[in-house]
Amino acid sequence: MALGEILYEGKAKIIYKTDDPNQLLAHYKDDATAFNAQKRGTIAGKGQINCAIATHLFQHLEAEGIATHFIDQPQANQMRIRAVQIIPLEVVVRNIAAGSLCQQTGLPLGTRLSQPLVDYYYKDDALGDPLLTPDRIQLLQLATQEQLAQLHNLALAINQALIAFFDLSGITLVDFKLEFGLTADQQLLLADEISPDTCRLWDQAETDPQGRVLDKDRFRQDLGDVENAYTRVLERVLAQSRSHGPSA
Ligand code: UDP
Repeated sequence: MALGEILYEGKAKIIYKTDDPNQLLAHYKDDATAFNAQKRGTIAGKGQINCAIATHLFQHLEAEGIATHFIDQPQANQMRIRAVQIIPLEVVVRNIAAGSLCQQTGLPLGTRLSQPLVDYYYKDDALGDPLLTPDRIQLLQLATQEQLAQLHNLALAINQALIAFFDLSGITLVDFKLEFGLTADQQLLLADEISPDTCRLWDQAETDPQGRVLDKDRFRQDLGDVENAYTRVLERVLAQSRSHGPSA
């Protein structure tokens, strides 16, 4: 397909226009950043690995009735997606305490939450992506109350589907970040990506707190073997997708 001009270049993806105004092309990069881009690096093969993982997870979610921006995967590191206006919220779902939740609340790493927690962050690099409250989301007019309720319900439904999917792969879904967007006709779609860059994933076969980490924390915390961990996630996602049949 013909690549048009670059619409947007982010930390991990380049979004190209195509000859169809309703479709875009996401090119997944090997670049990695953390701590609001203060730490930068490259993870060999990450673009292809994350594009493949995200493809399988979007297909699985579609099969579970969740509308996503995914269309198809024309190349190993490219995903054709539906054009959406991204809602500037990072919707984080947490099942186990880690990362900023531990830092901000004092909960010990690994504390199992009695119910999933949905946190909203303002997608604004200049402000450092601050935590928002529903009232602040209304104040800034980032989403209507109805849209926020929809986002909350979708986030919990996606969490249930992904917990079950990863659990069957021997992986614990600790937390993850979602982004949503609106199509020209106001359809709300799950957008961006779901990958080890955007999820915390712990290997259930490993008890060592560093050995179990299969996600971007390996890069954030300089734990090494980042590519190997991402590849292990892909292998398990592929095996799980195959066992769900061709539609998943
Ligand atoms: N996350 C993300 N992008 C961000 C911030 C967080 O994908 O800009 C993901 C992160 O990988 C983790 C979850 O959201 O799976 C929760 O992250 P947290 O708030 O703990 O922030 P962190 O301490 O990782 O910066």
